[in-house]
Amino acid sequence: MKKLALHWQILLGMVAGILFGILANQLEWGGFVKDWIKPFGTIFINSLKLIAIPLIVASLIKGITDLKDISKLSAMGGRTIAIYVGTTVLAIVIGLGIVNMVGPGRGLDESTRDSLLNDFAADAGKRIMDAEAQREAGPLQALVDLVPDNIVGAASSNGNMLQVIFFVICFGIGLILIDPKKAQPVKDFFDGVNEVVLKLIDLIMIAAPYGVFALLAALVVEAPSAGLFKALLYYSLCVLAGLGIMIFLVYPTLVKVFTGKGMKFFFNGISPAQLLAFSTSSSAATLPVTMERVEEHLGVDEEVTSFVLPIGATINMDGTSLYQAVAAVFIAQAYGMNLDLMTQLGIITTALAASIGSAAVPGAGMVMLVIVLGQAGIPEAGLALIFAVDRPLDMCRTVANVTGDATVAMLVGKSVGKLNEPQERKLDDFYAEG
Ligand code: ASP
Repeated sequence: MKKLALHWQILLGMVAGILFGILANQLEWGGFVKDWIKPFGTIFINSLKLIAIPLIVASLIKGITDLKDISKLSAMGGRTIAIYVGTTVLAIVIGLGIVNMVGPGRGLDESTRDSLLNDFAADAGKRIMDAEAQREAGPLQALVDLVPDNIVGAASSNGNMLQVIFFVICFGIGLILIDPKKAQPVKDFFDGVNEVVLKLIDLIMIAAPYGVFALLAALVVEAPSAGLFKALLYYSLCVLAGLGIMIFLVYPTLVKVFTGKGMKFFFNGISPAQLLAFSTSSSAATLPVTMERVEEHLGVDEEVTSFVLPIGATINMDGTSLYQAVAAVFIAQAYGMNLDLMTQLGIITTALAASIGSAAVPGAGMVMLVIVLGQAGIPEAGLALIFAVDRPLDMCRTVANVTGDATVAMLVGKSVGKLNEPQERKLDDFYAEG
């Protein structure tokens, strides 16, 4: 029997989840959804996160040792970082352009503004405190944070993927430099681990349609009222327009121009990862699927994906940076402030840094937004204004983040001659592609 393609199955799960959530709200089944449905969504996300660290370790070590020499590694590393920064700056500029043109904050009436500020002051205060710790750090703190003092500790905490990557790159370099005879068994071991992890991802993905059903049903049940959303409609539309431009225009164009691959090919390949990014709001949780899709469906060699994608999931957040720029200007507008050109140029730099510093987990971009606000002299309490709509926007910006990573993997793959025709599709054991 020919089964539905994976992305359709996930999409069906999402739609069914949203409808079920709406129905549950009507019938006041909120408690049932929280107790009996949401946990399955949590189990699904946890299993993806569980696999993320072993995947990064095994695939990065394999990727680096396959390169066989350090000069190749630094060439690819330099290129990767340059394209990541380039696309992020472009995203911020697009966001700033839209929010200045539309001016959504200028249309927010005062009573709505004050009630939002009151209702969400406590939530905003918590985020501001989280950000405070980051801000108190000295100028070299980011560099210090890169080097963990305990690798098990780094691997066990969600926000420290960059530390794990740092250690693994060092480990991989060490492995290239030692006697090949001694290195071989270590390399073989991680090759094997890599295979096991990829197989586990296949298995987890069987549950994806059910997992996203549970996640979205719970989200709808817990969502704030639609009235609040309406008040923030123009702001949300600005963020969505910017994200839409990145996802449907910028990335497919970059892919077309630099690799010659069409939009249909690109979206067919990456859409399951996009849908998962939307459902989980986490680039880190989506990473296993992003890697599999980019390798097997977009044809980027493992040598490239295993290096480019884990780093991308951690530092390349075009959607987040765009959102931070739009949100900062929106809040300033709502307070009646006029941001001059210099301040807006400053936002480009701080949003770039803040998006790199945002962990790849739900809501992280909002914590780092506090830093952007602080630098630009915008009242941080204004965070309360955008709280009500943050989750849906987080879901959408995570899609842009993941699509951006996939795009850059294709560009880097092409530039180093490692973009091939897609290989035999692993998931075909379970799903026929439609
Ligand atoms: N949720 C986003 C991600 O994981 C980060 C953020 O913008 O909050 O990519």
